[in-house]
Formats: sequence, structure tokens, C-alpha cells
Amino acid sequence: MRTVSILGSTGSIGHSTLEVLPELADTHRVTSLVAHSNAAKIVAQARQVRPQVIGLADPAAALRAERDLSREGIEVLSGPDVAVQVLRATRPDLVVAAITGAAGLPASLEAVQGGAVLALANKEALVMAGRQLTHLARAHHASIVPVDSEHSAIFQALHGEDPAGVRRLILTASGGPFLDLPPERFASITPDMALRHPTWKMGRKISIDSATMMNKALEIVEACWLFAVAPDAVDVLIHPQSIVHSMVEFVDGSILAQMGVPCMTVPVRYALSYPRRAPTASRYFDAARFATLTFAEPDRERFPALALGHHVARQGGLAGTVLNAANEVAVAWFLEGRTSFNAITETAARVLDRMENASEPSLERIVAADSWARAEAERCLRNNS
Ligand code: NDP
Ligand code: MG
Repeated sequence: MRTVSILGSTGSIGHSTLEVLPELADTHRVTSLVAHSNAAKIVAQARQVRPQVIGLADPAAALRAERDLSREGIEVLSGPDVAVQVLRATRPDLVVAAITGAAGLPASLEAVQGGAVLALANKEALVMAGRQLTHLARAHHASIVPVDSEHSAIFQALHGEDPAGVRRLILTASGGPFLDLPPERFASITPDMALRHPTWKMGRKISIDSATMMNKALEIVEACWLFAVAPDAVDVLIHPQSIVHSMVEFVDGSILAQMGVPCMTVPVRYALSYPRRAPTASRYFDAARFATLTFAEPDRERFPALALGHHVARQGGLAGTVLNAANEVAVAWFLEGRTSFNAITETAARVLDRMENASEPSLERIVAADSWARAEAERCLRNNS
């Protein structure tokens, strides 16, 4: 039996994970769940999967959950570092890291230091502190298995391959809801428009990232850390149908692609059962229904965020931390209706321009750079400069 902790259980990836786990009931048992403040949902989940411990970052929500679960023998923890507390209390074999944003980093670091398999959806942790996370994973014999669909595809295509035979990683991108929107209409994009993704149903932050294509920028950096490749060996290709989840090109001219329905249960199932493959009760991919698969170069002028991915991956040091933090702040402002869609990428680019970099920064410097970039982004957004 492998024990599993789901960090971010009430979110979109958490939901997909809980959908897959009944298929793995013979081999996997959930021992903890963590969320931010959605007490009603985590209590319902806890009644279903019967973990030992649940955690809510928000103390008031934790009190509500504790009251609801008082007779059920499930411990409730709380506080800003609740995910780390829960991992220390339960020491799971496998951690599904599906907290959004930089808030997920401490728990991912804790998971690898505990030698767990880290099923990583929280790409922001790698963008922010990829060197620390991958070094610690190696030092503690922990493995990182990507949940992000593109990286799961590449991970699968690379399985058993000699890294020397790899020429290029090709990340596919749906292009998001504004793939064909004329540039003059970008200024009037509202949060509602941006939240309507054509092929994936996801949490709010990543939906906005997909609309700006900042998501693909973050994924370029994520790929560099996960697969130890140079930034120039990572390319992006628009593929609106989201059937080919990504590809690896080898030096002999072969390309291996992983395909499937655009549904996160597939990469989640793979990450949970890796290195095995577990059968599923849900629908299989019917290639005949997708007679047309198209691929195109991205429009880098309409989606300037894309260039920031390669820029940051080449810069290294604190650049990923700064890009991620500035983007998180700008996305929050946009979702609150306080700034325009275009301001998200503009803000990220401005803050990156003003940063002071450092090579191989310590975790303390990373945390300081994250705070600096958040404050600088706020300043840019307030002054619109
Ligand atoms: P959601 O917004 O749907 O869910 C986020 C989850 O994290 C919720 O359970 C939320 O709890 C919890 N959470 C947020 N902040 C904290 C905190 N400080 N402490 C504890 N828990 C917290 O996001 P998604 O599921 O869409 O995305 C999660 C991660 O996975 C992101 O990093 C995203 O980039 C990545 N990802 C997502 C994909 C998708 O299809 N959704 C695809 C690929 C990657 P609460 O509900 O209480 O607020
Ligand atoms: Mg992805």
C-alpha cells in the first residue's frame, strides 16, 4: 500500500486525483488532504476517503472543519505552513502537489526531503526554486513525476531513452481562448472571457496563465529543470485540439509524442501509478473522432509572455522567482478587475527588467526576491509604469 497526501485537494487537480484514486484502491490509500479555506469541500472529501489528517491554511475554516469532523477521528491541522505540518505528521510515500503558486513551494521541498515521490502539478515551485527542488530530490532519493500534461507526455516519451539521443522537447500549447483574437481587442479582455478555456477546465490562476500564454513560459522553465535540458532545446508549438500533449524529437529524426483526451486524470493516473500503468474505467481515446490535428508556430507578438519563458530559463538565478511572483500579483489584480489583460505580461516584463540577479541563490535569497518582485509588481500596477 502506498500512502498518499493530496495538497490542494479541493482544487481542479485535487478533484482529478480523487477521481482516479478509487481505481487504485488496492494499491493506494489517502492519509492526508490539504486545502486553503474550502472547509465544506474538504470535510466532504474527508468523509469519503477517511484520511488520518486534514489541513486548512485558514484558521477559521479549520475550526469549522474540526467542528464537523469532531466525531470522526480525523485530526485537523491549520496555519500558513499547514501543508508542511501535514507531511511531517503523516510521512506519505507519495505527495500530489496541487497547491497553486509560490504557496506550494515549502511543501514540495518538504516532500522531497522526506524521500517521497512528488507528483508535481505545482509548476510554480519549480520555476521559483528549480535548482533547490531538483537538488534536494536527488540528495534524498526522491523522484519528481510531473502531473502537468505536457511534462507528463515528455516524461513518458523519454522513458528508457539515453539523454544523449534527445535533440529537442516540443511543448504543445492549445493557444488558449484568444488564439485567434485580433490584437486590437486584447485591451478589452475581461476575466470572464479569459477564464473560458476552450479545451481544459482548470483553476482560475492557471486559466489566466493559459490565456496570456504565461503558462507556456512557466512550462519552458519547468521543462528545463525537470529534464535537465538547455532552454534552446525547448520549443513551443500551437496545437488547438490538445490531443498531442507534447513531443520529444531525437537526433535520428524520430519524434515520440504522447496522445490522449484532454483530461487531467490521464497524467494524474500516470503519476500516481508510475512506474506501472494502471487500467482505467473511464473513456479511452478514440483517434477516429479527431480526424484533424493541426500544429502551428505561436504568434510571439500577440503573446509576448512566451518570450519571457526562454528569457528567464537562460538568465537562471532569481529570474524564475521574479517572473513567477510578478505574474501571480498581476493575475490577482486582473481577476479582481483592477488591471487590464495586457498589463499582466507588461508588469512581469518590467519587474524582470528591474531585478538584480544572483547565480545559484540560496533559498533565503529566493524568498527575498519573491517578496521584492511582489512589491515591485504592486508598484508597477498602481502607477501603471
Ligand atoms: P485550483 O485553484 O483549482 O486549486 C488550488 C488548490 O490549492 C485548492 O485546493 C486550494 O484550496 C489550495 N490552496 C491554495 N492556496 C493554498 C495554501 N496557501 N495552502 C494550502 N492550500 C492552498 O488550482 P488547480 O488545481 O487548477 O492548479 C493547482 C496547481 O496545478 C497549479 O500550480 C497549476 O499551475 C497546476 N496545474 C493545473 C492544471 C489543471 O488542469 N488544473 C494542469 C497543470 C498544472 P481552497 O479550495 O480551499 O482555496
Ligand atoms: Mg500544462
